[in-house]
Parts: sequence; structure tokens; C-alpha cells
Amino acid sequence: MRLSPLLLALALGGACATAVAAPAPAPADWSTRERKQLVQYEVALAAPESRWLEVVMTVERPRGRRSDVALPAWIPGSYLVRDFARNLDGIEVTDLAGVSLPVERLDKQTWRIGHGGKGFRARYRVWADEPGVRTSVVDDSHATLNGAGLFLYLVGETARPAELRFTGMPANWTVHGALPQPSPGTLRASSYDVLVDSPLELGTPVVHAWDEGGTRIELVFSAPGGSNADPERLARELRPVVHAFAEAMGGLPTKRYVFLMLADEKSDGGLEHADSTLMRVSRDMFQDEAGYRRALHLASHEFFHLWNAKRLRDAALVPYDYSREDYSRLLWFHEGFTETVENQMLVRAGATGPEQFLQELATAWTAYLQKPGRNHVPLTQVSVEAWVKQYKPSPGHFSTTVSYYEKGHLVGVCLDLELRLRSRGKGSLVGVFRRLMASHGARGKGITFGDIVAAASAEAGSDVRDFFRRYVEGTDELPLPAQLTRMGVDVEIRAPSAGESSPLAARRKQGWTGIVFTDNAVRSVVPGSPAELAGLLPGDEVIAVAARRTRTGEEAAERLMDHAPGQSVEVALFRGGRLLQRTLTIAADPRKVFRFTASRTPEPAVRELRDAWLASSPR
Ligand SMILES: [Zn+2]
Repeated sequence: MRLSPLLLALALGGACATAVAAPAPAPADWSTRERKQLVQYEVALAAPESRWLEVVMTVERPRGRRSDVALPAWIPGSYLVRDFARNLDGIEVTDLAGVSLPVERLDKQTWRIGHGGKGFRARYRVWADEPGVRTSVVDDSHATLNGAGLFLYLVGETARPAELRFTGMPANWTVHGALPQPSPGTLRASSYDVLVDSPLELGTPVVHAWDEGGTRIELVFSAPGGSNADPERLARELRPVVHAFAEAMGGLPTKRYVFLMLADEKSDGGLEHADSTLMRVSRDMFQDEAGYRRALHLASHEFFHLWNAKRLRDAALVPYDYSREDYSRLLWFHEGFTETVENQMLVRAGATGPEQFLQELATAWTAYLQKPGRNHVPLTQVSVEAWVKQYKPSPGHFSTTVSYYEKGHLVGVCLDLELRLRSRGKGSLVGVFRRLMASHGARGKGITFGDIVAAASAEAGSDVRDFFRRYVEGTDELPLPAQLTRMGVDVEIRAPSAGESSPLAARRKQGWTGIVFTDNAVRSVVPGSPAELAGLLPGDEVIAVAARRTRTGEEAAERLMDHAPGQSVEVALFRGGRLLQRTLTIAADPRKVFRFTASRTPEPAVRELRDAWLASSPR
């Protein structure tokens, strides 16, 4: 048997740390007051392959004569009701001497414990079989744990400090995450919020650590089942990105930050936390440069969240209400602008060249202009709707809403350019974040829409309320191309068929139906398109085009493009089990493809503005 170097490192339980990294700060012992308030959790991993985690919650000094305990309905950062209580089983409560206490279930996620003022223990178990960045999984190779789905909280008393202890862990496993560990397997959190804001990876991951201006940075790479990634390369590429952020933001506001990267069956994005992130990537995606690039984008995005969304948090989400939807009107800011800064910091770090940055921006703009729902409702409303739309997609959303990530990112780019143009290069989007950190984040104050507008106006040197009124509270088309021209960037607009070297390929790209296919069905239909005029609907299963059988959406799209604009074609489809026939007339493709390139002959002042925007300063 041969083991890859990675597997070998995993088999040896190998954790390697570079010598320069500062050691993890040792936590001070609990004060007497904290000890009295302590909520203790013990998680038994005696039979990890069973997927059940046995949890014991101990409260030695409860308040009053009875306490309500509950499991969150959602996890901060992911705006969807997940009802974690669905995985909880068999809650039993005793006093500290083991005598049973009465428990009443109040609703789907809350229990009332009658303890008469005495200390109590609640025992329950949790089914953990959902790998992901918002959920928990345990098996015999590792455990990825998210506290929101595991730990009951004392309703109204989430400020109490918490201590967490693992028992029955396989001997070669270690525990990784942002929580300090006074001894292996015992972790401390200053509050319930901190406890559930600190995902943990248990197992035998590879660890790379380094120092960034006095902050210990860790990359914890966990690949149960192996991966084609080189974690050392990931750490090497991440270093200048972390440095670029630190430089741009004036230092890191934490002594330790942990990138937890889980590589397994599929990519699942990342979730932000104050001092860490949990990312999930496909174990096989590192076969080419694109895989490393995706991982770097993901890490860059999550890292900026340590400021935006964590230390700069919508005042409406302070404190979090775990029991139900907690509404924010600022998700375009928390998520969209994070994407803007994520991309920019990769340029700063030298990971993205200026040409590539402009090309990626052009691709994003091209795709965005093809979204019929982009200006249907304002971003502030899209943000509130996240709970029922962003995470609960329906075909009807195609023309009625837009992703606050996608549009928020482009609004972030437009705001950045607006600030640079107005202030003649003195202000920027990152400057807005620095201002908000000084006025709010560093003081633990939540931010409001008005605070963002005020910080942006200060950065611009003039009132930018109108920008927010038009593009965030309103639905005006974004001014990106005009702004780019003023920034010394050439904007080229072409037909989708232009640039095709083969005449046949160019001819086939001239037609348009307005159908977006999934594997074998119509996913969406562009309003006013030939498909809509022909009466096609999302969900239709296209089975033949021009009397010839098609087996996949891709094949149907190819057969439709056999026909030139103006030609009619018969489409056979199943809808709700009924066979239907529709006639579709191919139209000329109205879509535009954008190309952004740095102008060769800008005015010197414009060149200076542009170069400052696209400058890199790698370490
Ligand atoms: Zn995010």
C-alpha cells in the first residue's frame, strides 16, 4: 500500500506548524463570578460511527425556580430556518444528584425545566450526519461540529460563559477551532454567542500556522478520505492575501484566526465567524489552477467577514435572536460588499492581475445584465426576503428578485468607483470599512443603513445619499460602464457571436430562445423571449426538438440552435405528465457581452486613479 504525502501526514496525525507563528494565547482561568455563571457542555464521542453525539448540559446555578432551554432555529450567517431541533432526541433532566426533574416541551425547540432553584443536568443526543459549513457530522474519521445545532441555550441568559469538554475521542484526534483550549479537549467560550460562533474540526488534520503582525493565523486542512490538494501551497498562497487585508484595514483586530478547510465530497462554500471560518471544498477540485483559485477566493471572502458581518454587524442583528428569523436590511452590504473587497484584496496580494480582474468584472457584469429580476425590487427588500427567497429558490424568482451577493457585489464596485472619482483618489470602499470599524466595530456598536451612508459620504468628501437612494433603496440600472470610462477603462460591447473564429460557431450563436435549462427540464424562461411567447414554462421537460428526440437540456439547446433567427421549430414536452407540442420562433440574440480593458491613453490624472484602484502590493 502506498500513501500519498497528505494521507501519510493524516495517518500520522501530523500537525506541522512553522516556527515563526506565535503560540495560541493561553486562556486565563475563570473568575469566581464567571465560574458561578458557567454553563458546561460535555460531548461524548464514544461511538462516532453511529452518528449520535451524546450531550450533557450542566447548569450549577440556574436563575429562578425554572429555566427554559432551546436549540436555535438558524445559524448566524445563513439566513434560513433550519430547525436544528429536528436532530435532537430524548431530553432527560436531573438535579446534580441524579434525581429526575420535570421537563415540559413548550414548542418545536424549547423545553421548560422545573429545577426549583437547584443545579440541573440535561442529557440528550443529537443526530449528526450532515456534512456542511452550517451543520454537523461525525464519523469514525473526523467530526465537523457547529454549536448552533448541538448546544441548548438558556433562554434569556446567552451571556453566560460556557465550557465544552469532549470525552471518548479517538486517541489520535485533536480539536481545532477558534476557542481557546486550556487543556486538550476542553474549550472555553465567553458566551453562548461565542460558543456557537466557533465551529470545530476534530480529527487528524494538517495544520499550517504563521504570524501576521502579531496575530497567529492557522490553516487547518481536514481531508477525511484524502484530497489532491497541497495544503502547504494553500497556506503559501493565503499568506499574502491575509497580509493585504491587514495592510488595507490597518491591522487585524484579533490575536488568532483559524481557517478551517474541510475537503470532502463536494464544495459547499464557507461560513464566517469572528475569529475563524469553516469552508468546505471538493476534495478533488485541486487538480488544476482553477481549484486553488476558487479556494483562495473563498478564503479571501470569509476572511473579510471577520470585519464585515462579524465586528461590523447590522444593529438589527445585535443580539442575535436564535428562536426565529432575524431580519437584516443590510445583507447586500454584509455579503455583496464582502465579495467586492474579496476580489480587490486578491489584486492587492498579487494573486489576480489587473487584466484578469477587469475581465472577471466584465464577465460578472455580462451575466448580471442577463438577470431579468435585477431591478425588480430594491436591495434593502431583497435582503429582508432572504429567508424566503435567497435560500428557498423557486422558478418565479428569476424575474422577480436578484441575489444580494451578485448585485451587492456590483453595487460595491460602483460605490468604490464613485468614492474614488468624487474624492480624486483619496477615498475608497475599504476606507468606508476602516471608518466604520473606528466608529462602531472597535466599540462593539451595531451599524445602521445611515451609518454606512455617513461613512461613505465622509470618504467621498461629499454627500453620497443619492447613490444609495438610487441603487440600494431604488432600482436604477447600475452606472458601471460610465464609471469605468471615467476611470480610464475601455468598455467594449459585442454580440455573443462576435469573436467566434469559426463561421459555423458564430452562426449558431446568433439565435436565442430565452430558455435556461437544468439537466433535463426548463429551469427558467426569460420574460418576453421566444420561449415565453411560445408558452414554455419552468419545469417543462423537453423531449424532442423538430421531431427529433432530445435526452438532456444541453442536447435540446443544441438542437434549437440548429435553427437560425426567424425560423420556427416544433418542441415536444411533458408538463405534469401530459405531452404537449409548442411552436417556438428563434430570435436574434439581444444579449451583450462586455469586455473591460485598461485604456492605453488615459489622461495622467485618470491613469493615476486607475492605477491606485488596480495596484498590487504583494509582500
Ligand atoms: Zn459571505
